[in-house]
Amino acid sequence: MEKLQQIYEGKAKKVYATEDPNLVIVSYKDDATAFDGLKKGTISGKGAINNQMSNFLMRKLEGAGVPTHYVEELNERETVVKKVSIVPLEVIIRNISAGSFSKRYGVEEGIPFDEPTIEFSYKNDDLHDPLINSYHAVALHLATWEEIRQIKEYAFQVNQFLKAELLACGVLLVDFKLEFGRLADGTIVLADEISPDTCRFWDAKTREKLDKDRFRRDLGNVEDAYQEMRRRLMGQ
Ligand code: ADP
Ligand code: UDP
Repeated sequence: MEKLQQIYEGKAKKVYATEDPNLVIVSYKDDATAFDGLKKGTISGKGAINNQMSNFLMRKLEGAGVPTHYVEELNERETVVKKVSIVPLEVIIRNISAGSFSKRYGVEEGIPFDEPTIEFSYKNDDLHDPLINSYHAVALHLATWEEIRQIKEYAFQVNQFLKAELLACGVLLVDFKLEFGRLADGTIVLADEISPDTCRFWDAKTREKLDKDRFRRDLGNVEDAYQEMRRRLMGQ
C-alpha cells in the first residue's frame, strides 16, 4: 500500500490518503506536546513504540470483540487504518485519581475508584478541548444517543481488557483517552491510538510513572519509560 497526498498533520501523527478511499496511512512522529501545545519536545523512538503498541493492543481488542480501525502495520512507524470520520469527543476513562481529575476536585493522585469513571471532552483546539456532557454533545450534533451508548459500552470494554492485560505485566492502568470514528456505513469503531501518550501507566509495585507524564512533568528517563512499556507488553 502506497502513501499518496498528506491529508492532515497533527501533533503526534500524519495522515495520508491511499488509492483506496476507505483506507488511510497514519505515520507516527517522535514529536511530543503537552499543556495544550505550549510545551514542545521530542521523545526519541516514541513514534515506533506508539505505533507498535497501539497496533498490538488493537489487534487484541478486535479479538475481544471491540471493532477498531486497525488494518495492517506497514513498518516501524506507519500503519494502514480504516478511514473514519472522527466523533469529536475525547473519551476518558479513569480507574485511579490523577491529572485533571485531581486538580479539578482537589484530591491527591493515586486514589483507586470503586468503579471506573467516564467523561468526554469536546475535541476542539480553538476551545481548548472543554469538558462536555452527553446532552450537550447531542445538542451540538457531535454524536447521537445511540452512538454515545455504543461508545460508552466499548470504552468500558476496552478498560476491562486493558486493565487485566497490563496488570499481568505489573502495570496499573490509571486513566486513558480514546477516540472513536464512523465508517462510511456509520458503524462506530475505536480509532486513533492507545499508547503511553494517551494513557497513564504506573508500575504496580513502585508506582513509578511509565508514560507521557515523565515528559509533561520533566521527570527524566522519558525514552526509557516508553521502551519499558513496550518491553513489558510486547516483550521487545
Ligand atoms: P492531533 O490532531 O490531536 O494533533 P494526532 O497528531 O494524533 O492528533 O493526529 C492524528 C489525527 O488523525 C487526529 O486528529 C485523529 O483524530 C485522526 N484519526 C485517528 N484515527 C483516524 C482514522 N482511522 N481515520 C481518520 N482520522 C483518524
Ligand atoms: N489525554 C490525552 N489527550 C488529551 C487529554 C488527555 O491522551 O488531549 C489522556 C492523558 O494522557 C491521560 C488521560 O487522558 O491518560 C486523562 O487526562 P487528564 O484529563 O487527567 O488531563 P491531563 O492531566 O493530561 O491534562
